[in-house]
Amino acid sequence: MEKGKDYCRLIEKNLEIQQQKINPKDYKFYLVGRFLQYARHVEKYADSCVECNNFKSDIVHVTSNLENYLNRSKTNKQEYEMISDKIFSHLSKNHGIKPSNYYTSLYSVFGILAGGFLGLLLSYLFYNGFSKLILFVLLIGFLVGNILGYRKDKKLRTNNLQL
Ligand SMILES: [Zn+2]
Repeated sequence: MEKGKDYCRLIEKNLEIQQQKINPKDYKFYLVGRFLQYARHVEKYADSCVECNNFKSDIVHVTSNLENYLNRSKTNKQEYEMISDKIFSHLSKNHGIKPSNYYTSLYSVFGILAGGFLGLLLSYLFYNGFSKLILFVLLIGFLVGNILGYRKDKKLRTNNLQL
């Protein structure tokens, strides 16, 4: 199996060839481009992680047979998604790799929920019912979550831990 840049170049080439055979909508919907990102990351960990090392051949197989996976039956598509999910969840759980904006979205939602709850509590405490305070605290929650999440995503980006 090729190593380092040669390996990634092989995957890139596979995708270029297969891209012409796949419906552009499917290419986008099934996040085919992610396989190049997978390749870059598993190559990085292949020497120290058995699973990543095994994924290398899976990625070669999928990227050179995309038309068989995506242009045929539903079962083939499901199989494709299963492989993609398996690699994705391994990279996420074992190596802390996340899609871009992962924490920004996650923390924003947390912020809205926490802000909404706190706002409701304060509003009942100070105004004995609903008030504009709820919306105000909710907005602050969103902003805080958004900023903290953005910072965390930025850190992942600088450490090359993003898909
Ligand atoms: Zn691994």
